[in-house]
Amino acid sequence: MHEHCHKKTAEFSWDDIDTVLLDMDGTLLDKHFDDYFWEQYLPEHYSLIHGISVEAAKKELLSRYCQVENTLAWADTDFWSRELGLDIPELKLRINHLIGVHPYVIEFLEFCLQMRKNLYLVTNAHASTLSIKLERTAIGPWFDRVVCAAEVGLAKEEPLFWEGLEKMLNFDRKRTLLVDDTEQVLFSAEQYGMGHLLFVARPSSRQRTRYSCRFPSIEYFKELLPR
Ligand SMILES: [Mg+2]
Repeated sequence: MHEHCHKKTAEFSWDDIDTVLLDMDGTLLDKHFDDYFWEQYLPEHYSLIHGISVEAAKKELLSRYCQVENTLAWADTDFWSRELGLDIPELKLRINHLIGVHPYVIEFLEFCLQMRKNLYLVTNAHASTLSIKLERTAIGPWFDRVVCAAEVGLAKEEPLFWEGLEKMLNFDRKRTLLVDDTEQVLFSAEQYGMGHLLFVARPSSRQRTRYSCRFPSIEYFKELLPR
């Protein structure tokens, strides 16, 4: 993604949308938790266990992360527990106070409910991570259904994922809006023919805004609410 793209504003009419698909991490929830866990907390823990420096632990872990980027294995906590010999869900629980919902998310979910849109949370997250996050944030009941990519058997970065999801949920792709903070996911949905795509330009409260060059962006869901 280029660093200096101008913001493209979302231009769609709610009359053209029946179904709203929302990503979890970075989109509804502050990605700071995930960034902190993988980039700071886990390397520190790993360095203590193996008696190496935090820097060395970061280097080793980052190269392992890169090998499974954009795959379901990346989100698979069982995979990482096995791979690193650690109880990853248990470690995540220890810092679950850092899990937070982005501003205006609840207002937006309420708005979708009022407009009677079909509302789905669609995440690459593993079931164990999902349950930690839903327990902490209580956003689960807003949705008609919560879908883990593993149920479809592919990561959202694969265009075929959306075919599988459509069979599962029965939506009209041309009348569906997908909101996600991973541009690769939006590209795959575009290839599949998803009608409306929106990029979240500020997934972490600790990182600066980065607009997509290709897709319309929002920083906060407030932008989709009636003024
Ligand atoms: Mg995300």
